[in-house]
Amino acid sequence: MLIQTGIPSPDEIKETLPSPERLEQGPAAIFECFQNIPCNPCVDACPQGAISIGDDINNRPVLDESKCNGCGICLAHCPGLSIFVVDYSYSPNEALLKLPYEYLPLPLPGQQVSALNRKGQAIATAQVKRVQQNKNKTTVLWIVVPKNLAMDIRGIATPKEGKHYDRTSNYLSL
Ligand code: SF4
Ligand code: SF4
Repeated sequence: MLIQTGIPSPDEIKETLPSPERLEQGPAAIFECFQNIPCNPCVDACPQGAISIGDDINNRPVLDESKCNGCGICLAHCPGLSIFVVDYSYSPNEALLKLPYEYLPLPLPGQQVSALNRKGQAIATAQVKRVQQNKNKTTVLWIVVPKNLAMDIRGIATPKEGKHYDRTSNYLSL
């Protein structure tokens, strides 16, 4: 499925998920890194030592979910934009997602945006909570989404009004 369409199948996605118990405890990283490629910056980026790849750099990353605190630092270091953080503990009906984002203009905290599934289709409205910028690294967006769609939403789109947002304030750094 992934090879033909670029979109992982439900079975491939299932493999990447932390346990339901871990997801209910708080933010946890999800690695949608499906191919054996020579890559490992996520391993060095994690301050908790929660990611391992082993002796062969072509191995896929493995998360120790007991060590991950969902900080999101690894997201900004992944060249494949393959890592996400999902926090089911955010509220009874909402989840907090942390997503890598490399488009401009960046959205603003508080802004309503379209939440996109893996096919790029808008499936919900999300609210931007934070925009974390890290010099020369990928921006990480924190967005609040309906909890029942948290595992389907993997991107956002901002309104196409030709507007350029004021980027002088409201941003946080990793
Ligand atoms: S979210 Fe933070 S603790 Fe979890 S794997 Fe990534 S860098 Fe490590
Ligand atoms: S940095 Fe990203 S693409 Fe590279 S191994 Fe880690 S998760 Fe996969």
